[in-house]
Amino acid sequence: MRITAIALLAVLFVFVCKGAARAESGEIFSVAVGDLKISMILEAQRDSGLDFLIGASPEDIAKFIPSGSYPSVVAAYLVQSPDGAMLVDTGFGREIGRHLKSLGVSDGDIKTVLVTHAHGDHISGLAKDGKAVYKNAKVIAAKGEYAWSADLRKHLRAYDGRHELITPGGLETGGTEIRRGVYAIEAYGHTPGHTMFLFESKGEKLLIWGDLTHAMAIQMPRPGVSVTYDSDPAAAAEVRASVLKYAAENKIPIAGMHVAYPGIGDISADPENPGGYIFTGKTE
Ligand SMILES: [Zn+2]
Repeated sequence: MRITAIALLAVLFVFVCKGAARAESGEIFSVAVGDLKISMILEAQRDSGLDFLIGASPEDIAKFIPSGSYPSVVAAYLVQSPDGAMLVDTGFGREIGRHLKSLGVSDGDIKTVLVTHAHGDHISGLAKDGKAVYKNAKVIAAKGEYAWSADLRKHLRAYDGRHELITPGGLETGGTEIRRGVYAIEAYGHTPGHTMFLFESKGEKLLIWGDLTHAMAIQMPRPGVSVTYDSDPAAAAEVRASVLKYAAENKIPIAGMHVAYPGIGDISADPENPGGYIFTGKTE
């Protein structure tokens, strides 16, 4: 009898732990930003190894990534506003449509697609078999990224002229307003035209920073660590440090395409680690 009770408790314990783990790794996470509803849509999740890191000392790796791997995701963001539905990046295009549907949005409802940069995990979902996935959308991308990426130019051909090339503004000037309450901010380094988008509604803000980070576990405490897929690792490190400082000082919540679930959270300076930051994921 006693053994059965212990076994039952053990089963219950495993079940409860599994449930908790699931809650920390959902596929969609939404927040309200004024009149906007902004949702992280998870497309893929995996653990990444140390091979991609540039500039991480053995001591830092032992301290911040003791297991030798860190969680890594691919995500896109849906912005629902009174002006219509907007997508920021499109992931690989494998799971996004399914998740949009669960949010009550069809591909045809997307009026605008904002592109942070032209890597495959961000723009592959734009077109399928040479045809636009978001048939009613206009695609917005930075001029510099368009000039740099043959892949982006190829995908945009499916949109038959429905694209708009923009010049993002600097962080210190608050960026370039490209739609009501939507600001494009340059964050070059990861790619030559890498762009962040700041959303503002009723005094609330959220900065979707694209690929400013890939390995939060070490790039928060050590923003100087870059990754091998940064076009210019030194520039990427520099822009990361200034954006983290900006987000922390101005208390602007952030969201990132490779920030693990919930993908959206707050940045604060780490008082015990000068130059380092702490990310706190939103809980509601
Ligand atoms: Zn990426």
